[in-house]
Amino acid sequence: MSAYVSAFELFSIGVGPSSSHTVGPLRAARSFAALLRPQHSAVARLECVLYGSLGATGIGHGTPDAIVAGLQGHEPETVDPAVVRGAWTDWRDGDALLLDGAHPVPFSRGDIAFAPRTRLPGHPNALTLRALDARGELLAEETYYSIGGGFIRRDGEDTALATASFPHAFDTAEALLALCDEHGWTIAEVARRNEESRRSEAEVAAGLDAIWDAMAGCVEAGLHADGVLPGMLKVKRRAGAIRAQLDEVESDGKRELPGEWLGAFALAVNEENASGGRVVTAPTNGAAGIVPAVAMYWWRFLADSGLGSGNAVTPYGELVGSALLGMHPADPVADDDLTVEANRRRGIRRFLLTATALGSLFKANASISGAEGGCQAEVGSACAMAAGGLTAVMGGTNRQIENAAEIAMEHHLGLTCDPVGGLVQIPCIERNAIAASTAVTAARLALRGDGSHYVSLDAVVETMRQTGIDMSHKYKETSEGGLAVNVIEC
Ligand code: SF4
Repeated sequence: MSAYVSAFELFSIGVGPSSSHTVGPLRAARSFAALLRPQHSAVARLECVLYGSLGATGIGHGTPDAIVAGLQGHEPETVDPAVVRGAWTDWRDGDALLLDGAHPVPFSRGDIAFAPRTRLPGHPNALTLRALDARGELLAEETYYSIGGGFIRRDGEDTALATASFPHAFDTAEALLALCDEHGWTIAEVARRNEESRRSEAEVAAGLDAIWDAMAGCVEAGLHADGVLPGMLKVKRRAGAIRAQLDEVESDGKRELPGEWLGAFALAVNEENASGGRVVTAPTNGAAGIVPAVAMYWWRFLADSGLGSGNAVTPYGELVGSALLGMHPADPVADDDLTVEANRRRGIRRFLLTATALGSLFKANASISGAEGGCQAEVGSACAMAAGGLTAVMGGTNRQIENAAEIAMEHHLGLTCDPVGGLVQIPCIERNAIAASTAVTAARLALRGDGSHYVSLDAVVETMRQTGIDMSHKYKETSEGGLAVNVIEC
């Protein structure tokens, strides 16, 4: 079995606030609407039941809104986030829902039911969709599992990863490192070669650039927003105010506060996510701020520091490897563009490819779903992906990359998921900023070593899996424990 999951699945462009509770259900409902195509005209009623975690925290995560948008045929990559926001919440009972964008079906908010106490064996995030005819006879029924990161699985489908067909297979970090040793490849190069088995070089490069552009756009949007986030907590957005403060301090043109910018980048993405904006899963929406924040930190403060000087130490004490300069075997497109912009873009592709290979290991051998493994599975995995990506673009070796990912994950073990009010706001938003900082620290520690270390990445992935199994369901995206029950919602 290969663990590898494509970068274009792990980093999917979608909408907030949750990959498992918004993007996954939207995809499930859209899939169901498409399945009904041969019998659209017979459909007179649509029903949905949200089980387990989807039932418990679905309203706060916009799950019923996503179901309505998906039934109408929208897809997460292209839908205007404003269309999803409030699609169910603001629905007028009895209005016609345009099934698959084509066939009108009378629909009421009560057609979506919540069953938080019912846990289906397939996954804690489950939903059933039904279509009935005018006589109330069942036309079709499907149960879907939203298994994290926006991925869905239909009940009865093979649970094996659909990615098993990639040519350069690895199922553990040890196997990945052995593959790299055998061929003399970097981790990013393994990922690139796998991607190029499905897309051309140019398409891989353009696709990675599009992911980065969406991430950077999200950072920028969040840094220039203010006001209050949706939901009863009335959480104030902070990224815009922090950006204004930092701009003021650095008005002389000097870049003096990279560490504070790092936190602001993460807050910006997660505030955009919490407001239902355009977000890239990385590998989930709740943890979507970490990879973009660390990548943006590299792009703004480190990317150009070593140009022309081989290995160097930046004003911020970072090592910058000569691997940054010019072309690298992991780069998808063979061009000789040595402009600053081209070098940065190549670095970001390397960052994302490295993070993809690492994220694949968490997805295959443990979980990236908060409902399955707690927050260690979401924020811990994202932190490890970012740490590995940063180590790669700083010129780290494969073993230093593995070390950085291991350090980052090790110190998230046992982290619970307890969103207050079922909203992806408290503790999620700040948690991304803290994890971005941890990722940078993990990369720095790994880069100062030689890659040898005591706890392997595989051991820490397995520990995360076991800890997730042992964790009480109260701490797995149900809002029945932790901060969610100790913070008064006003
Ligand atoms: S606490 Fe962590 S896992 Fe839970 S919703 Fe927030 S970011 Fe996701």
